[in-house]
Amino acid sequence: MKYTILDCYTDEPAGLGVPPYLGTYPRYIAGYLDEDVHYLTIDDLRLWRKHNSRVKETKPSQKTDITTYNLTSNYKDVKKILEETDTLIVVLGIHVPGKYLSAVPGTLHEIMPLIKDLKCKKILTGPAVFGTQLHGGKFREKADLTLFDKIDYSLFRFKYSDVKDYSVEGAQILKQIPDYRMIEIETGHGCDIGKCSFCTEPIKNRVEFRDKDDVLKEITEFYKLGARFFRLGKQTCFYTLPYAIDLLKEIRKNCPELKVLHIDNVNPVKVVMDKNHEITKAVVKYCTSGNIAAFGIESFDMEVVKANTLNTAPNIAYEAIRILNKYGADTGQDGMPRYLPGINIIFGLRAESKKTHEENMKWLKKIYDEGLMLRRINIRQVAIFEGTSLYNEGKDKFLRKNKKFYWKWRNDIRQNIDWPMLQRIVPRETVLTNCYAEIYDGKTTFCRQFGTYPLIVGVKGRLELKKFYDIEITGHMLRSITGKVVIKKEIEDVNF
Ligand code: SF4
Repeated sequence: MKYTILDCYTDEPAGLGVPPYLGTYPRYIAGYLDEDVHYLTIDDLRLWRKHNSRVKETKPSQKTDITTYNLTSNYKDVKKILEETDTLIVVLGIHVPGKYLSAVPGTLHEIMPLIKDLKCKKILTGPAVFGTQLHGGKFREKADLTLFDKIDYSLFRFKYSDVKDYSVEGAQILKQIPDYRMIEIETGHGCDIGKCSFCTEPIKNRVEFRDKDDVLKEITEFYKLGARFFRLGKQTCFYTLPYAIDLLKEIRKNCPELKVLHIDNVNPVKVVMDKNHEITKAVVKYCTSGNIAAFGIESFDMEVVKANTLNTAPNIAYEAIRILNKYGADTGQDGMPRYLPGINIIFGLRAESKKTHEENMKWLKKIYDEGLMLRRINIRQVAIFEGTSLYNEGKDKFLRKNKKFYWKWRNDIRQNIDWPMLQRIVPRETVLTNCYAEIYDGKTTFCRQFGTYPLIVGVKGRLELKKFYDIEITGHMLRSITGKVVIKKEIEDVNF
């Protein structure tokens, strides 16, 4: 039986699998199948369908084609691989749509015509089994899924003891990926609070944590295969993990040459509850710098917090932001502050009004005026999924009502908070080390460090892509920066 995994990429509240991240789903499936499995990306498939698997050079006037950028080492043989495939497993699903610098996740509408004439059995899995939507402010994509022989929920119905070996064996798919990848590591799923009106996590998973040794074995396996960039990102709150500090210590012991170790979601309530701030101190000590705790604050308006049973009141959020700044604001080796909060704000929740924006601005200004730092403010319009309380009550009522204000609200935050904040975080002449050149847009090259929510740096000229550079900051845009190259480096010289 010949299996092929087609990775159309995934993005969820807890877990990212859009390049340069490698998500967990294709890895666990590869480990489970326990035979030679081909791993393809949606980019491989597009390149085959659009250009007969031939890579086109980007002309100096053009932008890099990010729809065919993330090729596997199998890209030249896609046709043959698919013709010989007995079962095609499609991994797909975007639940928290974002902007992706160097990838475009596949949608159901895109993928179905591309695979419909393949003779093999077709299985759909990943978050898309609960719906998918690449654009914020909309309901899930409507699609007739009868093309698929099976809609497979098993990736959401397992116990961690069932996948502990698969997660390690699945690391082998890294051999089919020629570029560097940030390995998204799962430590737990489900949410012990689990009430936010818009969130699909409590529907998908019950609360469970992986065994510390299983997590370590998986990371060590990737490390042996050459992976050096890791994010402990697939969980709803890193601070809730019973063994958070020990895990960080042991990763550093087992993987002495790793280059990036970051985390992702953190519940601000748990930061405030953390006794003597032990977890915060350990994150600063054992993770690499440029690290961010993504706080799902969603709104600073108490009316919205209550109406959507959000987990963090504004005063708690503020306190957690203060604590992280106290320990993490110093500049680390990569030129970024060691560990800062990032916050998420969602438009379109129940009870949203003009006052919501006023409350958001009031708290954001207070944070800025007190000299605190927020590494990034992620603003998105809610995507509405069946099964959530928002779907059952309210749906897109507030989205429709307030949509006309969103550009203004977002712009207010970008101009008056993000922009001055960015100048505080990375003043001119700061040198950001180990920025990876990812794409061209005309005569500009866009680079990023590997990490959790790295800053995008625009550099004049066309640098050699997929190489590392130390870059001195020369200016600030609203959410990105400009810079000039100080040194070009090989991966061996990338140290933190
Ligand atoms: S805290 Fe809310 S948004 Fe975060 S995972 Fe739990 S239910 Fe979802």
